[in-house]
Amino acid sequence: MATPLTNHCIFCDIIKGAAEVSVCYEDTEAIAFMDIQPVNAGHVLVVSRQHFESFQDLPKRLGTHLFEVAMELAPAIRKVSGADGMNVIVSSGSAAGQDVFHFHVHLIPRRQGDGFDVRLPFADSDMPDRTVLDMMAARIIAALRDPTRARPAAREVAAVA
Ligand code: 5GP
Ligand code: ZN
Repeated sequence: MATPLTNHCIFCDIIKGAAEVSVCYEDTEAIAFMDIQPVNAGHVLVVSRQHFESFQDLPKRLGTHLFEVAMELAPAIRKVSGADGMNVIVSSGSAAGQDVFHFHVHLIPRRQGDGFDVRLPFADSDMPDRTVLDMMAARIIAALRDPTRARPAAREVAAVA
């Protein structure tokens, strides 16, 4: 089941043809268009036609397809924009900086010294003791094995209306 449309969604407007957009790719499940406020020229958003809010809502098969589209587009964007590198970014949830709550993958061509910063490791973070990293890994393994965990990945993509 798709996430219900509770609020107005600008990306759904774009997909319906109700808003201006510059499309660079489309198929039955995905569309890619130029970001309206690009970090650099060639900044593209890869978007599912069906409305899913965030990464955790996305059916696994659709997520795989969107990343396949992103992988196909990336070299073309890099060539056209003359970029030195590329950031492939998904922000999932407002705490992670998501502004438009319709799942999308950013393809951001980068140039040395362009001033955009998503640098890792985060300068304010320490390197924890190995036991802390091991403990967190063990907790994730246990969560993966939990038979009661939510499995959005197993959901089918509802038919596109
Ligand atoms: P987020 O922070 O949700 O990952 O990024 C949302 C992106 O959508 C931003 O980069 C923003 O510039 C872009 N955006 C917001 N509104 C529109 C719009 O109406 N058209 C297009 N093409 N991009 C938009
Ligand atoms: Zn939407």
